[in-house]
Amino acid sequence: MEQVEIWARKTQIAKILSFFDGLPRFIHIPKPMLVGSNNESEIIMVGDTTVSRIRGELKNLDEPFNPHLREQRILGGIKRIKPERATSLIYQELKKGFPEICMLEDSGECGEKVIRAHSLQEAVFKHHSKKRHVYQFEPFTGKRDEDKNLWPELAGIHEVTTFLGFCEHHDSKVFSPIETRPFQNTLEQRFLFHYRAFAQMYYDKAHKFQIMERVHDHLAKKFGRLELDTMEKSIFLNRHDTQELKQTKIELENQLRNKDWSAIEGYAFVGEKMPDVLTTNYFAPLKNFHGKIFQDTKSLNPIKWISFTVTAVNDRAVFLLCGEKGCPVLKEFASSFREMPLQSLAIVTYVFCTFENFIMLPKWWDSLPRSVQLKFVNAFQGRFYRRELPSVPDWNLKEIS
Ligand SMILES: [Zn+2]
Repeated sequence: MEQVEIWARKTQIAKILSFFDGLPRFIHIPKPMLVGSNNESEIIMVGDTTVSRIRGELKNLDEPFNPHLREQRILGGIKRIKPERATSLIYQELKKGFPEICMLEDSGECGEKVIRAHSLQEAVFKHHSKKRHVYQFEPFTGKRDEDKNLWPELAGIHEVTTFLGFCEHHDSKVFSPIETRPFQNTLEQRFLFHYRAFAQMYYDKAHKFQIMERVHDHLAKKFGRLELDTMEKSIFLNRHDTQELKQTKIELENQLRNKDWSAIEGYAFVGEKMPDVLTTNYFAPLKNFHGKIFQDTKSLNPIKWISFTVTAVNDRAVFLLCGEKGCPVLKEFASSFREMPLQSLAIVTYVFCTFENFIMLPKWWDSLPRSVQLKFVNAFQGRFYRRELPSVPDWNLKEIS
């Protein structure tokens, strides 16, 4: 454990994570152990704790480590809500189903029926499924092994990557230029990929997250503020983000209505092979591809959001990065990607360490030995970029204009 403190002082968080990946779920830390700093305090762990608790702290640490702090936060031994209890409440709420809403209801001509809108077209990966199933992680409902590791599970291609955020009419009308026409990297197509990524994220934050708020209200009847601290923080941050994104929603819908496609710019990379991991995300990146922090996502100041899409056209990988015109974060993110020597691995690593919503093709996942799969599973649970991951097949990406 002394080694952990040395890594902590050098901000070698990936090494600390790899060290704890190899330990059983419940651990005992005999004497206070520094793992890093977070805002104003050093973070010290001691006593009985779990590997997932430590991972939870590690993902929020300062980079670099701040050696000039006087405050300490000592964690361990605090009575906390059994995660099983919160999970079963979440499960109950999930069974009630998600809110159904058309994001474009103010744009007129709204159809009656809200459908499962695909954030990635099913046709892209249908032929690569295993009996019409692909792999994905299910953080709330997924099964865990004896060490509480969450493994990806097969899920039906009609369900994966869907959200209840558009009516049938708007979904088919608005997205037909990317659903029915080949990808030619037009301004319109990039705008629509970007807007769809935004819509899914906005739906998650503004509507789907209500489930967490209801779970919190149930738990608040029984538990004090200290135990609900983490949950209350995430509810606060979610409300903050939603508020910030409301303005973006208005802007994007105006641009959509006026066909102002050039309001969004983007970079496209096309490969020669099918990607093994597919995703679409709208997010505020903390780090570029090198793992260098390039915007402060810990403060509540406005931050830059971009979209990150890995899809395919005719079984050839398409990687798209889009953001508002002139966005400096987008520019730096794209140039850090160009500098990556192993670009397919860089994408897969970024996806596993950062995102929750993505799918994996069975042909690739099933081909990996369990020890290699475990490395990806640990990266998913660690939520820390950048870590070393085993190699992946190269999709031979080239930038196109
Ligand atoms: Zn509609």
